[in-house]
Amino acid sequence: MTVRTRIAPSPTGDPHVGTAYVALFNYCFARKSGGQFILRIEDTDMARSNPQSQEAILNSLRWLGLDWDEGPDVGGPHGPYQQSLRGEIYRQHVARLLEEGHAFRCFCTSERLAELRKAQQPAGLRPGYDGRCLGLSQAEVEQLLRDNVPYVIRMKVPEQGVCEMTDLLRGRIEIGWDMVDMQVLLKQDGMPTYHLANVVDDHLMGITHVIRGEEWINSTPKHLLLYDYFGWEKPVFCHLPLLRNPDKSKLSKRKNPTSLVYYQRMGFLPEAMLNYLGLMAWSMPEGEEKLSLAEMVEKFDLAHISLGGPVFDIKKLSWLNGRWVREDLSDEQYAERVQKWALNREYLMPIAALTKQRVSILSDLGPLTAFFFSGELPVKAADFEDKKVPVEVSRKAFARALEEFDALGCWDKQAIGALFKQLCDEFQSKLRDFLRPFYVAITGSPTSTPLFDSMEILGRDLCRARLRRALEVLKGANS
Ligand code: GLU
Repeated sequence: MTVRTRIAPSPTGDPHVGTAYVALFNYCFARKSGGQFILRIEDTDMARSNPQSQEAILNSLRWLGLDWDEGPDVGGPHGPYQQSLRGEIYRQHVARLLEEGHAFRCFCTSERLAELRKAQQPAGLRPGYDGRCLGLSQAEVEQLLRDNVPYVIRMKVPEQGVCEMTDLLRGRIEIGWDMVDMQVLLKQDGMPTYHLANVVDDHLMGITHVIRGEEWINSTPKHLLLYDYFGWEKPVFCHLPLLRNPDKSKLSKRKNPTSLVYYQRMGFLPEAMLNYLGLMAWSMPEGEEKLSLAEMVEKFDLAHISLGGPVFDIKKLSWLNGRWVREDLSDEQYAERVQKWALNREYLMPIAALTKQRVSILSDLGPLTAFFFSGELPVKAADFEDKKVPVEVSRKAFARALEEFDALGCWDKQAIGALFKQLCDEFQSKLRDFLRPFYVAITGSPTSTPLFDSMEILGRDLCRARLRRALEVLKGANS
């Protein structure tokens, strides 16, 4: 058997370090076994998926040095590798489940489902579908179809008993069927849900090992049931422990930067990043910590993966990065890396456009633009003292802006400008005054190159990190 693994990101946001972490393990396992590693885009959630995110994910994985044998960009015999282009395949498969009695049409309205949830919660019941449409007769279904009543298709689930499964790292796991919902497989718009598309594609793409994050364990019974309904051989399942913040909570961008773009912008080396992600769930028997991708492939062994919640600690990552810089790069290579990082045309051009009118001599550039070439800024509480804007207001405004950053679909100066105008109205302040503390937090100075342009260039994650730091700094400050 040829091992075939995959990474199946959903392009709904910034490229996440967790995606790289799972991709790395799939990559190492496939390469070590002489198998293939596939990249599939899971974009069935049309409202949240976007092509920019897809491109950023592919770019970030490539930046790290990972490559794939089949995927939307490189093609392959099992394409298309993008689920939004495979609608017909899913509809055919759902039709088969309907015909064979493993799935049913559900005509319940969203109002009814909301009522149901409302009743289930106080009664301490698990929220889930109650199976009402399972009781419809053939004649009733036909009438509803003739009346063009919208419907979804749900899978049938056993009413009692337990689902037994084997996880490569955890061994046997049992989950009661009463914990498993009658999952929607096909939505009203004819698009599949993740569960259906994922299983159908893993089968059609010949995936032998599903290596993914442990947040999917509770979905696995549905997936196993679908394999049984279709009569397909099941892949091996392996759920990796989730990355955690230093306080052991699930790694989240509220506490730690999670976007690979942030790490790239900060100047982490891809080899250090991959190396660190490898150390997250896997300790080498000899205790060595600095490993190249080729060494990780060579030494890869699923038996070395430990289940303890791995802590993603930026300090440790920085330490490892320092070792890679000092021990592996010649002066020339180091200079090349710096150029590639931020002294390149792509990064410099928008900065040039922004600064040309503001310098007399070229050396004015250094102090004016240092913040474009820095990570987090060394701001202090005193930097935020402002006659017109009390510290308490800045603190609240930073917190509100952080909340809104994520909702901003597109990170460009127009969108950023519109957001700040909206926040400024909310705080009933004058834009000029309102923006001053943001200038300090983001650029390190109350006067600088225009804020919205600068924020676009810096990117969402670095801006988020700087605002978060400003908030930390102001935590103990008097208003
Ligand atoms: N699209 C899912 C995700 O974004 C894939 C989960 C899986 O690997 O099955 O994580």
